[in-house]
Amino acid sequence: MASLKAEVFGTEKDRVNCPFYFKIGACRHGERCSRAHNAPPNSTTVLFKNMYQSPLQQCRPGDPLPSAEEVEDAFEDFYEDVLVELGKQGKIDYLHVCDNLAAHLCGNVYACFREEEAASGALAALNGRYYLGRPIVAELSPVTNFSEACCREFMETGRCSRGTMCNFLHLKMVGKRLYRELHGRERPSLYSRRGGGGGYQRGRRNRSRSPAGYREETDEERRAKIARWNRERREQKRKEAEEAAVGGA
Ligand SMILES: [Zn+2]
Ligand SMILES: [Zn+2]
Repeated sequence: MASLKAEVFGTEKDRVNCPFYFKIGACRHGERCSRAHNAPPNSTTVLFKNMYQSPLQQCRPGDPLPSAEEVEDAFEDFYEDVLVELGKQGKIDYLHVCDNLAAHLCGNVYACFREEEAASGALAALNGRYYLGRPIVAELSPVTNFSEACCREFMETGRCSRGTMCNFLHLKMVGKRLYRELHGRERPSLYSRRGGGGGYQRGRRNRSRSPAGYREETDEERRAKIARWNRERREQKRKEAEEAAVGGA
């Protein structure tokens, strides 16, 4: 029975926990979702919700549209800004910025730190502050395996039949040169959707091209971790209830 529960945890069959939340860090139902979106108490990933706004989104009706170059420059400025600011908290393995237009994914930024402490530090330092006049809304996220969170079709072909409203991540990419400059390494194969079209698959299998010391966790590890969070949460609730009962007596 216990093993059966562990198997369905965070999957489509799980009636309690939202599989989209676990896999992608957000689901289109948001707070109205019938399944639980429980933020983890610890994680190496921080999600900054809807943080990136492209010049196209900032355009008001009647304004001239920005050029492709302006859009690209604005994105690279943003990427560099955020990477430098977050880097003050600790080593960042990946910084992923969402290109989807669905409200729950639009402009989402996932910062993947090497250490949980750095992620918590970044959350504490930035949550509630402002970036270009908009409040920063951040949370620790259960997402660590981005080959699962990303849209496979988009990774393999650079296009998606579901378009920009797709519910899996379409990542925006900075240029190779800037990536190398900022991260001090080549862009990992997870991104290399051009040339052969097998970037997604290679990214998944070829661990040797990951930055030193970094390995994406497996599904089993992720589910075990989630199960542990839930056990801890139940335990915490039980303790609180006990304390309340004692206090009330
Ligand atoms: Zn949900
Ligand atoms: Zn897609």
